[in-house]
Amino acid sequence: MIKKEETQSIFEEYNRDKITIATLGSHSALQILKGAKEEGFRSLAICKNEQKIIYERFKVADEIITINDYKDILTEENQQKLREKNCVLVPHGSLIAYVGVDNIEEKLRLPLLGNRGILRWESDRTMERQWLEDADIKLPKEFKDPHDIERLSIVKFPGARGGKNYFLVNDHESFKRKATEFVKRKKITEEDVENATIQEYISGVNMYLSYFYSPLKDEVELFCIDKRYESNIDGLTRIPANDQKEVYEDPRFEASYVVVGNFPIVARESLLTQVFEMGDRIVESSKKIAPPGIVGAFCLETMINDDLEFIAFEISARIVAGTNPFTNGSPYSYLLYGENMGMGRRIARELKNALDQDEVAKIIT
Ligand code: AMP
Ligand code: AMP
Repeated sequence: MIKKEETQSIFEEYNRDKITIATLGSHSALQILKGAKEEGFRSLAICKNEQKIIYERFKVADEIITINDYKDILTEENQQKLREKNCVLVPHGSLIAYVGVDNIEEKLRLPLLGNRGILRWESDRTMERQWLEDADIKLPKEFKDPHDIERLSIVKFPGARGGKNYFLVNDHESFKRKATEFVKRKKITEEDVENATIQEYISGVNMYLSYFYSPLKDEVELFCIDKRYESNIDGLTRIPANDQKEVYEDPRFEASYVVVGNFPIVARESLLTQVFEMGDRIVESSKKIAPPGIVGAFCLETMINDDLEFIAFEISARIVAGTNPFTNGSPYSYLLYGENMGMGRRIARELKNALDQDEVAKIIT
């Protein structure tokens, strides 16, 4: 793991009047770059050629560097270039998905806004569960052995295939029947079946709770809440159940939960007690498992059942793209900051405050 002393000494060499907030061009880059400019920093996008147009058209990047592959951010030449431009990098989902936690930990010698050491805790399912359990967050039951399935469960295939071919089962018999059929139809492989996550199906609705923990204020802010627009499941639910059966009988059909966008949500107000308590516990626990713990944005991905219980199925230890509907602020960030405070800007504001208070070491690794 690259030591925080190393990246902090890189930062020490930077020209403080010319700090640049940089991020990979994808995911939540638009609001990160916009927020950087709003807080008086320079902004830089590192993009693949085909994505350059996004950042050019919105004019949010003072500078755009194009690369062929996201992993090219790791070349010594590119890292050197970014250091020369006084770049501080904001990690997000695409950095994790395409550069990877191993590389972020071992090869990315740039100051990160956030805690480098906590990213693995969101990427490794066992560690993630351990963290959430330590924070006393309710989790769906998991069945390691399909013989143990004793209630309605969702069978998930994690990784690059992004939410494709999930299916629901009630017991071992229905697991076997559906898995065999899916393998026969070549939707999934035997190996997928062996590595599947079998999780209690939570009957309810989902809410993705985005928080910001400020180490400077030592306070967890509730920033915004979203839910996902997922193809093709969200289309499928708009046809009557009888017709859904027809769809499932088409051998070419694949049920999927592939994210294509996000909707804003405002929670029933009395639910916010639980929301704050969970956020506080996650931050407390993060300080134990991966010091200095969460720094800045994080997101708890939950289902809420009709007993008004939150059951989490994932955590992200950095900005999520579900903050994008709130580039100009959410109802919650409005309460704290007035207008125009998106998560990207909040991240830049923390850096600005840290520079003013000479506390950058608290937020950079
Ligand atoms: P992308 O760079 O768009 O391929 O996104 C990288 C990863 O971030 C994807 O695998 C998604 O899981 C996640 N992601 C991207 N955009 C969104 C979004 N709007 N909402 C939720 N997750 C997203
Ligand atoms: P994931 O790939 O884990 O992000 O899940 C994709 C979608 O599947 C989520 O947005 C939820 O709508 C749904 N989902 C995942 N896990 C569960 C669960 N345990 N119970 C009910 N729905 C779930």
